[in-house]
Amino acid sequence: MSSAEFVIPAPLPMSLPVLGETKRFPVRRVFCVGRNYEEHAKEMGFTGREPPFFFMKPADTLVPIEAGHQGTMDYPTLTQNLHHEIEWVVAVGVGGKNISAAQAPAHVYGYAVGLDMTRRDLQNDMKKQGRPWEIGKSFEQSAPIGPVVPAAQWAQSVGQNDAAIWLKVNGETRQTSHISQLIWNLGEILEHLSAAWELAPGDLIFTGTPAGVAAVKSGDVLAGGIDGLPELNLKIV
Ligand code: MN
Repeated sequence: MSSAEFVIPAPLPMSLPVLGETKRFPVRRVFCVGRNYEEHAKEMGFTGREPPFFFMKPADTLVPIEAGHQGTMDYPTLTQNLHHEIEWVVAVGVGGKNISAAQAPAHVYGYAVGLDMTRRDLQNDMKKQGRPWEIGKSFEQSAPIGPVVPAAQWAQSVGQNDAAIWLKVNGETRQTSHISQLIWNLGEILEHLSAAWELAPGDLIFTGTPAGVAAVKSGDVLAGGIDGLPELNLKIV
């Protein structure tokens, strides 16, 4: 079989390390859930249980960071208000559409810790004008992420529903909650998402962030974690 030739350099496929495996997890799309913890919805000026909503980041916005390593992210252009959002990330291993909440676990390959970095000032401008969020959400290096931990491995190491999620900046706790506090849980997220898109192997889902989002600046060191998953370490440069 001959390989295709391209008229310009072809992009390399994005992939993530997998804990305990030499093979990597190939990334297709990156879906993100908006306002999925009640206290965060309140701090963003919203209340109540609205239906889940989604936005996307291109796969090449990911910054894969190996366990035990500190990754780096360049402070992005055009913003004076770069925010951290620590999130539990679901890696889809088996695709499908109209997946029921009960079927959801069978579609999951594993889990990771991710950061949905946000140019909040630009996102707020776009919100006010009723325009798309991409300039605030979908810029280069906006999604630092740790290794994928296979689902069975994580289930053995920690009770998933009780897992704490937290983020520290320069050693100081900024965000803290539990996965159990998600407004829309894993099954419900997959049910809603797969009604709108046919999910495919390689899709990632950032499931939303707890309260406490705030600005970071160049030189700040971020440490994010979820019980039972490798800690994510990132320096803003
Ligand atoms: Mn987010």
